[in-house]
Amino acid sequence: MATLRKVLKCDVCGSKTLVRIQIGWLDSHPVRFNCGSCEILISGTLFLDQSEGTALIEFSNAKEDDTEDSTEFYIETSGELLTEKLQPYNLEKTLFPPFFTSGINMMGEDFGIFKQRTIGFLIKKNNYWPQYRRVNELWHRNNYKYLTSELKKYIPNIRYPLENELHFMMAVHQMNIEFMSCVLDDKFFNKYSKLIKYEIGLLSERSPKEFGELIDYFSEYLHRYEEKIFECVDTFIDKFNFMIPVFGLGFYQNKSEVDATKGITTVTFNDLKRFYIDVYEILTEMIELLIAFNNLKHRGNYKTMKAKRRDIATLEDYTKKNKGAKVEFLDGNETFDNLVYPNLNIKLRNAISHYTYKVDGINQLITYYPSGNEKSDNPPKISLVEFAQSCWNIFQSLMNVSELVYQARKVTFIKQGFEPSREHVFQLERKSLGKKIKNKNKLKRKNTKMAKRKNRKNK
Ligand SMILES: [Zn+2]
Repeated sequence: MATLRKVLKCDVCGSKTLVRIQIGWLDSHPVRFNCGSCEILISGTLFLDQSEGTALIEFSNAKEDDTEDSTEFYIETSGELLTEKLQPYNLEKTLFPPFFTSGINMMGEDFGIFKQRTIGFLIKKNNYWPQYRRVNELWHRNNYKYLTSELKKYIPNIRYPLENELHFMMAVHQMNIEFMSCVLDDKFFNKYSKLIKYEIGLLSERSPKEFGELIDYFSEYLHRYEEKIFECVDTFIDKFNFMIPVFGLGFYQNKSEVDATKGITTVTFNDLKRFYIDVYEILTEMIELLIAFNNLKHRGNYKTMKAKRRDIATLEDYTKKNKGAKVEFLDGNETFDNLVYPNLNIKLRNAISHYTYKVDGINQLITYYPSGNEKSDNPPKISLVEFAQSCWNIFQSLMNVSELVYQARKVTFIKQGFEPSREHVFQLERKSLGKKIKNKNKLKRKNTKMAKRKNRKNK
């Protein structure tokens, strides 16, 4: 994989940094790093022309310089992979293949899948997101007149019925999952959505009365949950390019080989901190639904809490508690915990919302103070790569819970007497297509026979 060398000179202190740029497969990507001398943030966008092997950098706070003479710092940058962090310039070192080359080798054949899925998602994001968004907006506003006409434009299966709210919800859901499929964790498909479907089926059969009570209790909240999940999806789409290198981490064949000292140059803490707490807030709001399913599954009644705290015996007690207390109940021991466990870091969330954190941009290290007191001893630390990964993971948890919300809402509609659709919006049945062709041929033969008969008659 080709690399380019560019020298950037800081607008403030004049220090020069050699940036080695990976010519990857993205046309453009964000670049973020700090000046090694005065520590200001240098940020911008890199535009790459893969066929020409050239790059154009649009930066704030630094300008391109012609020579490497008296360069003090060195950094690698990549839109797709982890990189070496900022370090003192050493010409010899900059002649070796850069770190990201080894990163590609460590992914092996999966590098191709990573590329395919990233590009696949970017194409959808850049070309089709407004259409998907408007379909969701119409659904959230119960605007069925326009929703029907919009869905008809995008549904490949012309036999898909659009006759009731359940049909609409299923169609919107199937479209959303198809849109997100490139970036959803494999576990979403192989594990969690199967688990949710199986458990809901089992619970409704085993304890129909108690299951019905759970569904009735939550039915009024589910529509709002969907709207809030969608807001997070909208932000995720916007933030995706910052997180591509951590998406790539999922494709390393041996995760333990990923060097913990490596950094990321597509993102800063500021770019993602709001995203983390927004997703956190919405997830913890919906946790009551997840806990209710745990209660029903493990204790036979959706209101009976597990014995964890004396002051929380019922779901009503639980809903009154703050988010910290709520998260305590998710410890990975009950069936539905794993949809979100262990991706909710209450300490990190508190520190972000209190603005009590310190960012060391050069070493890419965030120190945070959950109590809100920046003088406390031994505060927890997290690297920028780990933080970006936390943002990625918490979003995957949100998608898992969105599946629970969807399946629960589906049951509420069925309880109201709506018939679900047996068709899938993306189902293009070979058989029926085959039949159509056969029928066409039959018709042709019939027509020819009729024509022949007619001819004979006429003769
Ligand atoms: Zn500087």
